[in-house]
Amino acid sequence: MKQILTTYSAPHGHWVGDGFPVRSLLSYDRMGANNISPFLLLDYAGPAQFPPGTRRRGVGQHPHRGFETVTLVLQGELEHRDSTGSGGLIGEGDVQWMTAGAGIVHEEFHSPAFTHRGGTLEMVQLWVNLPARDKNAPAAYQTLLKKDIPVVSLGDHTGELRVVAGEFHGHQGPASTFTPMNVWSLKLEPGADVVLSVPEGQTAIVVVLKGTVQANGAEVLHDAEVASFDRLGQELQLESNNDARLLVLTGEPIDEPVVGHGPFVMNSDAEIHQAIADFQNGKFGMLHR
Ligand code: MN
Repeated sequence: MKQILTTYSAPHGHWVGDGFPVRSLLSYDRMGANNISPFLLLDYAGPAQFPPGTRRRGVGQHPHRGFETVTLVLQGELEHRDSTGSGGLIGEGDVQWMTAGAGIVHEEFHSPAFTHRGGTLEMVQLWVNLPARDKNAPAAYQTLLKKDIPVVSLGDHTGELRVVAGEFHGHQGPASTFTPMNVWSLKLEPGADVVLSVPEGQTAIVVVLKGTVQANGAEVLHDAEVASFDRLGQELQLESNNDARLLVLTGEPIDEPVVGHGPFVMNSDAEIHQAIADFQNGKFGMLHR
């Protein structure tokens, strides 16, 4: 059984733009990059109720370099556009896997349809680091539709696991990743007691979005709480006595320096200064109207 290293409760929420009331459940500067590598940050937005409106809410164009952003929409619908010319809608159950790599400019908004009808918005944005050799990869975008994400039963009256990235019981997730990792989205039913096998040597993190989950028969995690596990060992045990929704993230650690500044995550101060200069000089491209 993997040992629990630490548990974290989300700090107070903050707004990203005017569309996303988030709680940061993972953060490399708060938790230590080594403890959560290859993951950098995880913002959990909502669940929040938005009234019907006409003005679209969200966050306008901004850059990223040096990592990937993974957006999972649980409720509601988003619209995205970026400087590669990609864009589109991300609906319930869909995932957008964006490689910022060498540099991208994008915007993230509630979709027009969601804006007009209003409703509940619930989403997660995970930042995944890139190793130094891939930080200059061309910007790219993978649309992972709900229908292409395998759903694997965990057993009768136990729950289900969606494989966004990596593999579970022979089912491959659709995401293409630069380093080995699993991104699993789980629903557990009341009374579930599951043991998940994860690769030896990988970081493992359990993120509880909803409900109460007991990990390894010890720590009890509530809504918006996180447990990180030691790299040694291969098994996680999760019990739930209610309807629970959680993410299990595992990944091969990238043991390199992490130097971040806002939307840029590089390996050194010099590379951060270069990123700022390159963005200011228009080298990340622009959004095409
Ligand atoms: Mn962004």
